[in-house]
Amino acid sequence: MNDPNLTDRLYECGAVFAKDIDKQMSPIISFLLTGILPLIIFIALGNYMAKKLMEHAGGKNSMAFGMGKSNAKIYVQSSEEIRFSDVAGEDEAKENLSEIVDYLHNPKKYTDVGASMPKGVLLVGPPGTGKTMLAKAVAGESNVPFFSMSGSEFVEMFVGMGASKVRDLFGQAKEKAPCIVFIDEIDAIGKKRDGQMGGNDEREQTLNQLLTEMDGFEGNNGVIILAATNRPESLDPALTRPGRFDRRVPVELPDFAGREAILKVHAKKIKASDDVDLHTIARMASGASGAELANIINEAALRAVRSGRTVVNESDLEESIEVVIAGYQKKNAVLSDQEKKVVAYHEIGHALVAALQSHSAPVQKITIIPRTSGALGYTMQVEQGDKYLMTKKELENKIATFTGGRAAEEIVFGEITTGVSNDIEQATKIARAMITRYGMTDEFDMVAMENVTNQYLGGDTSLSCSADTQKEIDEKVVQLVKAEHEKARKILAENREKLDELAMYLYEKETITGDEFMDILDRK
Ligand code: ADP
Ligand code: ZN
Repeated sequence: MNDPNLTDRLYECGAVFAKDIDKQMSPIISFLLTGILPLIIFIALGNYMAKKLMEHAGGKNSMAFGMGKSNAKIYVQSSEEIRFSDVAGEDEAKENLSEIVDYLHNPKKYTDVGASMPKGVLLVGPPGTGKTMLAKAVAGESNVPFFSMSGSEFVEMFVGMGASKVRDLFGQAKEKAPCIVFIDEIDAIGKKRDGQMGGNDEREQTLNQLLTEMDGFEGNNGVIILAATNRPESLDPALTRPGRFDRRVPVELPDFAGREAILKVHAKKIKASDDVDLHTIARMASGASGAELANIINEAALRAVRSGRTVVNESDLEESIEVVIAGYQKKNAVLSDQEKKVVAYHEIGHALVAALQSHSAPVQKITIIPRTSGALGYTMQVEQGDKYLMTKKELENKIATFTGGRAAEEIVFGEITTGVSNDIEQATKIARAMITRYGMTDEFDMVAMENVTNQYLGGDTSLSCSADTQKEIDEKVVQLVKAEHEKARKILAENREKLDELAMYLYEKETITGDEFMDILDRK
């Protein structure tokens, strides 16, 4: 209170004064109490908590707060005895990897000549093709410990933790050498370092540590690193240079023989009746990966149980392929008569255009039973053998086939429907690829207008041309599809009786096989 006369007035009133200073706290003590004591308590508490957490983490041998404790699982040989014989197909990959098995069994043979094994082997391929299985099989065959870790497990919230995990993993591996270290989904840490400001520091440090570790051990100490990825193009070049992951083993989708072999391996696990013909099943399941084939077998077994049988029969397997590809049958979807007719004509339109262009059975089976995936009808294509090259003519015919469904609707009903979005997508995709990537136009000659960005995950593309060219490309795509659509319409109009006959057959029976289709088509 700003009152300079206060003391005088107090004297005037006769107030008594006493010395009271002793009872007040000294400023030093007061500072200690309010400033330092809370700090001490805080630090002590923090220490205690950290210790508790460490004990906890140590006891369970899991990674919680314990800096630098890696959770790479050590697979001892007996845990999961996977052999090369369990991995069906993939012969090239197995041949490539068996060299590593041989080396681990008999390193002297290699060191005598002065050869050193690659330090790292990169398994690349689409998901579900057996990359993890192959890595386990290498360990199983060579009878060595198997450390496995997923790339994403290295990426931690705190900078430096991932790097310490890498150090730890390699520390363990070196103790146990010879051994196999398997890093799944390596692209999670091995992505190209882009050098942007504020980039992912943690990931880069982890990657740097991995690179350092790989340089650190000499070629012949018996630690072999296998890594799997389905995005090889996104990996940092430093990771794929010689001396690190210098060997690349492609693990592709199985071909026809491979699919049959995989089905055989998995069919051993179920009780199947004698009428089961895996040859046919393999033909029907074109484009399926190993994991999908395993799933098909299992779905079939489940279906057998559901219908109260003790063995799996052929129809279980055929139905389960359709389930895996197109979803379950919709039991209560009731198509109106008119809709059913449209769907029948649509599907036959595709098949007929395909058949009249190639003069061979285009389909395995067509059904018009609605599926849970939303498909109202469904055509199972015949495998064209294993084809590695497609001619321009064949691609054009394919586009015409995709437009055949809509063409049939136009001709027969003079009306168009919404059930064509997938056809449109597919036709456009082929047409675009022909123009931008396969050099199949005169104007662009052999210039790439588009690059595939991830080959194993759907094959997305990115444009690499000017805006003007983009416009031109779009025009050409439209032209191409339009021409093929016109061709399909012409083919169907010229064969109107066959179209009617086949569509009515499908409409009544709901299913038509490839053989029945050809019989009707060839009937005069
Ligand atoms: P990826 O690591 O390539 O994604 P996985 O190795 O995990 O694939 O395979 C998944 C499952 O698919 C396996 O457990 C196995 O049942 C089945 N599978 C995949 N490829 C094969 C194959 N070539 N032979 C036998 N089974 C396979
Ligand atoms: Zn269609």
